[in-house]
Amino acid sequence: MPRAQLRNIYQSLKTILIGMRITLKYAFARTVTVQYPDRPPTVQPRFRGFHWYEIERCSACGACARACPVDCIYIETSGPRKVDKATGISRGGAIKRWAIDYSKCMFCALCTDPCPTECIKMGMVHDLSGYDRKSAIVEFTELAAKGLRTPEPLWMQKQRTPEWVRKQREENREKAAAWTEEMRKALTEQPVPKPPPAAAPPPASAPAAAATPPISPPAAPPAEPEPPKTAS
Ligand code: SF4
Ligand code: SF4
Repeated sequence: MPRAQLRNIYQSLKTILIGMRITLKYAFARTVTVQYPDRPPTVQPRFRGFHWYEIERCSACGACARACPVDCIYIETSGPRKVDKATGISRGGAIKRWAIDYSKCMFCALCTDPCPTECIKMGMVHDLSGYDRKSAIVEFTELAAKGLRTPEPLWMQKQRTPEWVRKQREENREKAAAWTEEMRKALTEQPVPKPPPAAAPPPASAPAAAATPPISPPAAPPAEPEPPKTAS
């Protein structure tokens, strides 16, 4: 057998052994793969996921859209809105559109900081898959009409889902359940609450002397009792 063939056989065996050594090393190492979606992924408390939007408190001021570095927040209203300080609810014009294009969003959270009513936050939903590019645009006004504050991805909408998915879906819905009526009101025009009437100021023309009571003269000391008369 020529030497060249022997060298080839040697090289083949050598590379197989090197490959098998790496395979065997990882075959007995600790498993780190998460069996998603059967098991939930670990989502840290300060994770920046798909947004959580509380529409009834939104004044449509546009501060979030102005802060967004990629201009992916779209807001349309039928008129100005005003926050009722007593309840924290905004009223006025209808919010016709409040949407985020997640094909542009980079989850920087810069939109959440300037919000005066803190009604936009980064949520915990980590995955939003879809069949086309259009489905990356989330219309939060349409979600609000359904009583939702954050998108429900396709995998979360399925009937047969793992237990952790069902739990997350129910949790999200329960948090919004008490506010569904107010959320729907934000989609229509509502009268702006009038501020309470200011307290009347004291009359400026009243004389200063009238404010203080008149000084009355000191009372006369009681009369000395007369000494008893003696018979002479
Ligand atoms: S997270 Fe960043 S990129 Fe996404 S909408 Fe907010 S500001 Fe824009
Ligand atoms: S900054 Fe807040 S209140 Fe203003 S439009 Fe954005 S979400 Fe609404």
